[in-house]
Amino acid sequence: VDGAPTDPAGPLPAAAGTLGEFALIARYFTRPTAERQGIGDDCALIDVGDSTLAISSDMLLEGVHFLPGADPHALGHKALAVNLSDLAAAGAQPRCFLLDLALPRADESWLAAFSRGLFELAARHGCTLVGGDTTRTPQGAGGAGPITIAITILGSVDRASYRGRAGARPGDDIWVSGQLGEAALGLALRRGELTLPPAARAACLERMDRPQARVALGRALAGRASAMIDVSDGLLGDLAHILERSYRADDGSAPLGRGALGATLFWAQLPRAGFFDPLPPALQQRCVLAGGDDYELAVTAPPQWRAELAALRCEGAGLTRIGRVEAAPGIRVHAGHEGAGAELALALQSFDHFRSS
Ligand code: ADP
Ligand code: MG
Repeated sequence: VDGAPTDPAGPLPAAAGTLGEFALIARYFTRPTAERQGIGDDCALIDVGDSTLAISSDMLLEGVHFLPGADPHALGHKALAVNLSDLAAAGAQPRCFLLDLALPRADESWLAAFSRGLFELAARHGCTLVGGDTTRTPQGAGGAGPITIAITILGSVDRASYRGRAGARPGDDIWVSGQLGEAALGLALRRGELTLPPAARAACLERMDRPQARVALGRALAGRASAMIDVSDGLLGDLAHILERSYRADDGSAPLGRGALGATLFWAQLPRAGFFDPLPPALQQRCVLAGGDDYELAVTAPPQWRAELAALRCEGAGLTRIGRVEAAPGIRVHAGHEGAGAELALALQSFDHFRSS
């Protein structure tokens, strides 16, 4: 049912603070309009004449997405990379972006490094800065407001091969690009929660600071994948978005809603760096299954494409088959390889801005 913005399409939460990020978006900002196409996917799709634009926006907030004093060159890179990653999940070709900045002061050395990080990555993807907005954050008694960086990105997409998050079917394979968990391990390292040998530490911090959006891989998967999402909040949570939005059958019936489909993953097949092996199993699982900031692609595809997807490599990243989509709701993780090992008991949550963990 449609409704005015003051007429939320559902009962209010039982108590303040229990509304999660995704329930909040669904309840207050999801309206049955044409442009709604895409709310819940990584990009919105807008037809313009004969072509289709994929549009997405993502924000980096000091104190939430990065620590005060973060390297400005890395911030410039990451602010664009997280947006490119949403285009990658739509299989889109990057075109241009808008940059909105709220800064406490005009610090020229910060701005020089930030813009270098930004433009170096933009050039690699042929993506042009075409506008934006710049403001100063309020200076209150408690100091300056946080640095806020918001980017809106536009790409072009082939609507015929576009799948978004809603196309997974029982029996599909589940694949993931690159390796998982290093960015979350980088955060744990930066917080002083553990130590690693220098090379492993450097690799994790690099993954956290300078994620590589899988744009070429996303485009190569068009026409093969049944659903795609980029892993920004953690594999289990992001895979759940695919399973919630996908249909049980190809009959065009309405989605069955939350938990409509399920999956089994094979822990031994989840791609991770060798330096994870000696770490405590609970830490490995937290980083690989629920760690945010990986910006890899999670992909479902019918088994007919198995050999082709296993052989696919784009810009140094390939795909690993990690599980299968099933009709039984819920995500199960088996300890071994496919067909081996008991089910792991997990108590993991993906990142949600409005849920305390
Ligand atoms: P992603 O991690 O891919 O950037 P998010 O998890 O941020 O996606 O958002 C989930 C979905 O909700 C996306 O389709 C996004 O466009 C949409 N969304 C998020 N915030 C809002 C909002 N304030 N109004 C409308 N749609 C929103
Ligand atoms: Mg995304």
